[in-house]
Amino acid sequence: MSEPLQGISGELKRLEESNRRRTLSLPRGIDFSSNDYLGLSRHPDLREAIVAALNETGMVGAGGSRLLRGHHPAHERLEQFAAEFFGVERALYLATGYAANQGLFSALCGRDDAVVFDEHIHASVREGVYASGAARHAARHNDPGSFEEALRRARESGARRVLIAVESVYSMDGDFAPLQELDALARAYEAVLVVDEAHATGVFGARGRGCGEGLHGPHWITLHTGGKALGVAGALICANADTIDYLINRARPFIYSTAPPPHLAAAVERALQLIDEEPWRRERVLSLAALARRRLFEQDSAARGSPIVPVILDDEARTLHVAGQLQALGFDVRAIRPPTVPDGTSRLRISIHADHGEGDIIALADALRTLVAA
Ligand code: PMP
Repeated sequence: MSEPLQGISGELKRLEESNRRRTLSLPRGIDFSSNDYLGLSRHPDLREAIVAALNETGMVGAGGSRLLRGHHPAHERLEQFAAEFFGVERALYLATGYAANQGLFSALCGRDDAVVFDEHIHASVREGVYASGAARHAARHNDPGSFEEALRRARESGARRVLIAVESVYSMDGDFAPLQELDALARAYEAVLVVDEAHATGVFGARGRGCGEGLHGPHWITLHTGGKALGVAGALICANADTIDYLINRARPFIYSTAPPPHLAAAVERALQLIDEEPWRRERVLSLAALARRRLFEQDSAARGSPIVPVILDDEARTLHVAGQLQALGFDVRAIRPPTVPDGTSRLRISIHADHGEGDIIALADALRTLVAA
């Protein structure tokens, strides 16, 4: 009998042969893989916030789209709190960061517009830009000269709106965007700078507001995800009041999707409060990340490093093999392969958390060095 979905078994076989076929595996061992950088996902206050919110409405689910019956007081409270917290006019909470990026770019640009984006930008931004029909200009990773060149091309082509899309901390490299230079370029070329702070929120900035803390201007839009350092789920888009109003009217993932459950909004609000109440978490995660770098690469501990520590092994089969060996030793470290990262740059993505013990990090680093040297 022929396959009803023609070609998929052949495609799966090709993925298998190139070591790119993914399978699901449950968490096991010490977590060096998730994005729970501050260890907030297990915080009892978040559980309490969830229970209080469930008791407030009696509802587990939101019941509908935010534009209809799915808009609840917990959403409104979170958005008001987040706007103050991040120092912006308004914030909008969506169910995922993926939906937020997709909705943001597809709503704010169209065929007459252009988006200049870092070549390592997250898939969700790419989806939004593709859906928008805007002209796409890729810039070399973290290279201000390349961004400027792309901006010049975008302006010369007569684009109406020009958006710049970057991550403040890159999810697979753990390195930082040159935000100061990008901010100056955005001003010079009258562009809007969209900064995805997914891996920086709660961790960077003197007060944990992200790498844009103190830089953020009216020509900025920022995205703060709730599922990483905040330990919950969803994402907040922060912008001026008109932009948020426009997104409420035009962002399809916001309009045509059931609102995130109100208790998750309540938990994200509590997580933001904890960023202020427990600053030791971000200090600790950064000092543990420095320890990991020192131990793994003998790198200067004074260098600013994020909690994402990539160990690039290049080859996919080897990366999978080393990840498997670390897992067998009780460390939950996952292999990251193309197309998530460029060809030939397969890696172990080690994620450091505030609730790791120093001994765990030393044990992992020593095991990894031995395995890689073997
Ligand atoms: N942006 C970046 C930079 C990310 O790394 C991710 C998650 N991998 C997202 C957006 C999507 O966020 P979410 O997981 O909430 O959909």
